[in-house]
Amino acid sequence: MSEKILFKYIDYPDQDRIETYIKNGGYTALRKVLKEYQPEEVVDIVKASWLRGRGGAGFPTGVKWSFLPKDGNKPIYLIVNGDESEPGTFKDRQLMEYDPHQLIEGAIISAYAIRCHTAFIYIRGEFVRPAEQVGKALQEAKDKGFLGKDILGSGYDLDIHIVRGGGAYICGEETSLMESIEGKRPLSRQKPPFPAIEGLWGCPTIINNVETLSNIPHILNNGAEWYKSFGTEKSPGTKIFCLSGHINRPGNYELPMGVNLKELIYEYGGGIIDDRPLKAVIPGGSSTPILRADEIDVNMDFESLAAAGTMLGSAGVIVMHDGTCMVSALQKLTKFYEHESCGKCSPCREGTNWMNKILKRMLKGEGRPEDVDLLYDIAKNILGRTVCPLGDAAAMPVIGFLDKFRDEFENICNGGKPKGTIHFPFN
Ligand code: SF4
Repeated sequence: MSEKILFKYIDYPDQDRIETYIKNGGYTALRKVLKEYQPEEVVDIVKASWLRGRGGAGFPTGVKWSFLPKDGNKPIYLIVNGDESEPGTFKDRQLMEYDPHQLIEGAIISAYAIRCHTAFIYIRGEFVRPAEQVGKALQEAKDKGFLGKDILGSGYDLDIHIVRGGGAYICGEETSLMESIEGKRPLSRQKPPFPAIEGLWGCPTIINNVETLSNIPHILNNGAEWYKSFGTEKSPGTKIFCLSGHINRPGNYELPMGVNLKELIYEYGGGIIDDRPLKAVIPGGSSTPILRADEIDVNMDFESLAAAGTMLGSAGVIVMHDGTCMVSALQKLTKFYEHESCGKCSPCREGTNWMNKILKRMLKGEGRPEDVDLLYDIAKNILGRTVCPLGDAAAMPVIGFLDKFRDEFENICNGGKPKGTIHFPFN
């Protein structure tokens, strides 16, 4: 088994305290950056590392930074996206709770790189303890001179503010998140313009995920080549994989990108509870297409999972054993997306509600034979036709479940018994 690599200190007691963080090498990257590098040199190093966004989309971070206008007179903002809400994903909350200085150091370096002087850490409403921890760490960093005016005598000024979300999934989507910071209802914005050109209060804005920025101090300390020595050529570095569901050792596992999914489940995760046969795995958080048990010999990186017809997403691996009713599991996911739809565009607003209704009647034993095709058709008509990615996130699981387990849906619509446990209540 591989050793934990970049985020190894997360398990250390007191790593959330600045003294411990500094004792373990913390803030050395910041000192180095402010002393040795111009902002554009930091962008070049991050670009060369090919660090890809860990929030789900996998876009190269340095390339995203380079989209900022080179010569504008508007302020530039950095937003750290800590609104982690995808079912099956729980890595950012632990990074914020147990190692907040790693994130703050990454955010300061990133802000310096993009010439930002005001940054925000947007934290999901339910994350009470992580928000407290980040708040405490920000104060500690300020007291030590890592934040505020003239950081470490470099002449560089930066303030970081915490903004708390209201507990809506849609606020994890970057344009909704910006609306929320601006004090508005978080309805997604049409793109373009993209946030790098016109973001928060109409100013150029970069939004990066918590895990993404937690990589930054390590890349600046050790170099782009070192970072690329982990993982695969196109998906370098390490990744935190969140294991949940019917698995013996659920939890967060930091491993090189490209680890085999079977190895992840059976070696790191200790296999399936009660040694039951595996039925299916959602590999990248609830919105990513499901894999059957015979498809898990696949590597966990962006390219390999795309070739397998699914996605790495946020690497929330949800494991299901043979006692899982696929109709019931899909209804739970669909209900979630119906509830979280902001209602702005009709394919998502109406489609998620309609799909949930159909799945509920299937579970009540009132499904009609034509319902399976109808469900598929609705999902296909949501896909790619909505303002923000929530529409796709709702449609992809439906298409995936029907592609892989259509027989279960047909069986239940033709009066058959469910092939697994139906979880009540469904509503
Ligand atoms: Fe809102 Fe859904 Fe449209 Fe996104 S896809 S803007 S969540 S209605």
